[in-house]
Amino acid sequence: MSRALNFNAGPASLPFAALARARDELIDFDGSGMSVMEHSHRGKVYEKVHHEATALVAELLELPKDYDVLFVQGGASMAFAQIPMNFLEAGKTADYIVTGAWGEKAVSEARAMSKAANGGEVHMAASTQQDKTYVRVPRQDELSLTPGAAYVHCTSNETIHGVEYALGPSTPFPKVQAPLICDMSSDILGRRVDMTQFDVVYGGAQKNIGPSGVTIVIAKKSMLDRGRKDLPAIFQYRTHAENKSLYNTPPTFGIYLVRNTLAWLKSEGGVAAIEARNVKKAAALYDTIDGSGGFYRCPVDKACRSIMNVVWRLPTPELEEAFVKEAEAQQMIGLKGHRSVGGIRASIYNAVEPAWVDALAAFMKDFAKRRG
Ligand code: PMP
Repeated sequence: MSRALNFNAGPASLPFAALARARDELIDFDGSGMSVMEHSHRGKVYEKVHHEATALVAELLELPKDYDVLFVQGGASMAFAQIPMNFLEAGKTADYIVTGAWGEKAVSEARAMSKAANGGEVHMAASTQQDKTYVRVPRQDELSLTPGAAYVHCTSNETIHGVEYALGPSTPFPKVQAPLICDMSSDILGRRVDMTQFDVVYGGAQKNIGPSGVTIVIAKKSMLDRGRKDLPAIFQYRTHAENKSLYNTPPTFGIYLVRNTLAWLKSEGGVAAIEARNVKKAAALYDTIDGSGGFYRCPVDKACRSIMNVVWRLPTPELEEAFVKEAEAQQMIGLKGHRSVGGIRASIYNAVEPAWVDALAAFMKDFAKRRG
């Protein structure tokens, strides 16, 4: 069997070891005579998997005891609405820092939610949009923060534009007085981040954590306590915390695959080891782009160039199309940029093998030589 060199943006490549384990355990899980999917979510067999997945998140992210890890549903997109639903009370303002298309969506959903649920105000504390695109995160002195804000929201890695926060000391996460909430969908667990600077972190699982269908929410217990209590129970994050993500039936097979994926990550040396690998993978692509004599161009400011989603352009859309087509013929999948921006994007999440990235860099050099 030959595995594709999968550069999809999400759902994305999963570690081979996590898939192979699922294959081996599929029909008869742990000698129970049935698959993990067929077990009750209230039974001992599944409970162990659920607990292990939750504990692995906390361990790998080095979360202090005053944080809860929740597995919920609806994707990061539902969190865009559910965050203000829970935390933006009437009379307060939520500040949004926008560094790309996902941040824009978060603001738009917050506005809709505050209207629909008598919530507070939504304020754009910064946007780095420039010429209809985004190439950087804002400096601290560019933020217009509201005193006494309900929370400040940012996106750690803008998956479409390849713009990432806090890759070095010159672009730290925002320093704010209010609770800091972060959409970390596309770079959580890809590098070391001090999680204690955030009050809530959330993301869809389908990049570094596991399959789609699982949404992760990590929150300070004190923040969850402050959430609105007049919402239907299912929408309150508190409910899921109090019930250890077993208030209703969770996506059990998805959480099982999260367990496999994070067990693999731990066996590889955890986040510090994967970060070193990810930084090298990203450098191989950015060096190829910068060394191409202008044939490839990455529009993103050097200090904000994502180590998860590397975006670049070729001289013409026709060459970009040819690049994607030729790459596909060599089993390199998912390189077409997001439909809203065009160009090329290589998503190189944790499970993407360094050898795949080396193969892509070699292909880029060869393509530039032939077509440049
Ligand atoms: N935020 C970011 C940063 C994302 O990359 C994505 C998905 N690509 C989303 C939010 C939306 O996630 P979902 O599809 O899980 O709703």
